[in-house]
Amino acid sequence: MALRRCSWPLLALALTGPLSAEDCCIAERQRMVREQIQGRGITNSEVLRIMQTTPRHLFVPAQVRSIAYEDHALPIGYGVTISQPYIVALMTELLGPARGPRVLEIGTGSGYQAAVLAQLTSHVYTIEIVPELAKSARETLRALGYRNVTVREGDGYQGWPGQAPFDRIILTAAPPDIPQELIAELKTGGRLLAPVGLVGTQRLVLIDKGADGRIRRQEKEDVAFVPMKTGAK
Ligand code: SAH
Repeated sequence: MALRRCSWPLLALALTGPLSAEDCCIAERQRMVREQIQGRGITNSEVLRIMQTTPRHLFVPAQVRSIAYEDHALPIGYGVTISQPYIVALMTELLGPARGPRVLEIGTGSGYQAAVLAQLTSHVYTIEIVPELAKSARETLRALGYRNVTVREGDGYQGWPGQAPFDRIILTAAPPDIPQELIAELKTGGRLLAPVGLVGTQRLVLIDKGADGRIRRQEKEDVAFVPMKTGAK
């Protein structure tokens, strides 16, 4: 599918403030939401609205901007990818987008998932291990006017103890098992969502921490995420 090229410079956005609906890709996004997201059973109206208005094309490198709304993950450099639009919508819906909570994301990447979550929560804390990606995501989010996202460069394996506990934790890089440190940073009544497992055998796992502190684990879709780096790796 050929898309009209979307090439608004971020500088212009920095000067004009947060992107309004008057951008280049409204029709592409409508189609993306209708075919890829509603078409696969996502029904949460807030998630659909946010996927409809968030300018995904501004989170990807210029070389792939013209295919930003297609039905797949895209390379964003450093061997990593921005997730497929459907997966971003699915994870946002599964996370339970009640307004208000504080969210921790591990794996900022482009900043797109953080931008989606920022429209549903009071604050998103997000950690990225590749310094260049942390820097560019921070710049993109700032230029687009997302004031309630804090990007930190570092290894998210230990979470963010200084800001814990969190109502929601989302991993967008896959560990072999969910780090206990992250479960410990979840509030009671909180929810954690993570792709878990080795490449080729990953599955989305949803963890709920009950009021009594008990952990309930559910396995969802098979997925394919960038592996989570740990320690010195
Ligand atoms: N959520 C991103 C996509 C993430 S791709 C988006 O919306 O674009 C997974 C990201 O996790 C990559 O950027 C990778 O560098 C990062 N990552 C991998 N291991 C990590 C770790 N231990 N701590 C923090 N980030 C990590």
